[in-house]
Amino acid sequence: KKMTGNELREAYLTFFAEKKGHLRLPSASLIPENDPTLLMIGAGMAPFKAYFTGKVKPPRPRITTSQRCVRTGDIENVGHTARHQTYFEMLGNFSFGDYFKKEAIPWAWEFLTEVLEMPKDKLWVTIYPKDDEARKIWEEQPGFDPSHIVPLEDNFWEIGPGPCGPDTEIYFDLGEERGCGKPDCAVGCDCDRYLEIWNNVFTQFDRTEDGKYNDLENKNIDTGMGLERIASVIQGVPSNFETDLLFPIIEYASKVSGVKYGEDADKDVSLKVIADHARSMSIMIMDGILPSNEGRGYVLRRILRRAIRHGRMLGIKDKFLEGAVDAVCKIYDGASDFEALAQKQDYIKKVISLEEDRFSATLEQGLELLDGYMSEAKKAGKKVLDSELSFKLYDTFGFPWELTEEILQENGMNFDKEGFDKEMQEQRDRARAARAENQRFAVPDLKNIDTAALKHDEKATEAEVVAIWKD
Ligand code: ATP
Ligand code: MG
Ligand code: MG
Ligand code: MG
Repeated sequence: KKMTGNELREAYLTFFAEKKGHLRLPSASLIPENDPTLLMIGAGMAPFKAYFTGKVKPPRPRITTSQRCVRTGDIENVGHTARHQTYFEMLGNFSFGDYFKKEAIPWAWEFLTEVLEMPKDKLWVTIYPKDDEARKIWEEQPGFDPSHIVPLEDNFWEIGPGPCGPDTEIYFDLGEERGCGKPDCAVGCDCDRYLEIWNNVFTQFDRTEDGKYNDLENKNIDTGMGLERIASVIQGVPSNFETDLLFPIIEYASKVSGVKYGEDADKDVSLKVIADHARSMSIMIMDGILPSNEGRGYVLRRILRRAIRHGRMLGIKDKFLEGAVDAVCKIYDGASDFEALAQKQDYIKKVISLEEDRFSATLEQGLELLDGYMSEAKKAGKKVLDSELSFKLYDTFGFPWELTEEILQENGMNFDKEGFDKEMQEQRDRARAARAENQRFAVPDLKNIDTAALKHDEKATEAEVVAIWKD
């Protein structure tokens, strides 16, 4: 069944709200509330953590949302896999001590095969090997092929002590021609053939501090389905980037650069990066994030600068990101939960425009400098760039270190992360000493951070951890 991305979101939320008794809530902001362990919301369940642990009573035991998510951990995948963006929407239906597996699985099946009319023989599922209950329920689904159940040890969701449990993930088989061709290619393979579309988590245990798994009194359901991924299946396009949720931005970048999409693999990567990053930054700014050198603001700055650089790689000399915002706003025109995007359109463009000015001025200079550094290093037979130099690029020219690393790698050289971190630390120490003199505040202890939660939430780097505290 053909549907637009915006129609798919509506179909999902309507199905769970009107047919399955869920309370439909708007997406939470990307900025987590009362959760210092998180840089940004990266999953539909993240805003509901307190409901899952039972700390806070939910307004209703069944909730459905389409949550805005950012996963910086996926940034290197963007443009290289068909299925990862830094920004995406996660559709979710949640049960807090209410329904469980015998409802969640049939409803997922009903939604995919009856509402979206996905062909049943293309759907595969993974389960936790010991989860006989889930296996049995899957086997009972009308038209489901029981040979499409794959037990995987990985299908258990936990983050340290607390609520946890097995999960079942649903995959769509895009066909042999999309596979890697390896003889052992099957569900779970990282290639493009089996596309993971939906994760259903059954939080049924409470893990104690000493590693015992007790049955939870209130069992929960937490599901997450990527909107762009089901859109790619439903719209029959080769990747998330060709869906109507992203392609208009590619068309815009293609127009500005004069580079045709689909003719050169490297250029396609740049077009996809620009599309993803332009959307990401627009929505981050919509949610109140501003470019800065710390925390979320740094993520935004890094994404923005990365997009500008990919623009340069396509030969774009002028400012172009402001114009991409218009393409982003058009995609979400009239979509529920995105009213603020149109309201803030001018503001978002202004923020991006200022940042683009600031960076463009130094980018040229910095790139030239880096080119010089690289040829000197090569002449001297060095494969690694001196960390003082990479730090200077960061400090003086605002180069996100990841950008320096990328450019070095493209030129067959390496980035000295350890040395860079040392320079960074020394600079921090100097800044701290200066601050201590003013005796304004003490830097909090890193020990207080819930690293288990951080690990789950897309592996924030240590720099980010430090940054969260400063934010
Ligand atoms: P993958 O294995 O493909 O990286 P995941 O297992 O990390 O996905 P989950 O954490 O299970 O993903 O998130 C639930 C759903 O959210 C996924 O099944 C997928 O549809 C979607 N999703 C996750 N990460 C991304 C991303 N970076 N871009 C787009 N959609 C995503
Ligand atoms: Mg992932
Ligand atoms: Mg996965
Ligand atoms: Mg998953």
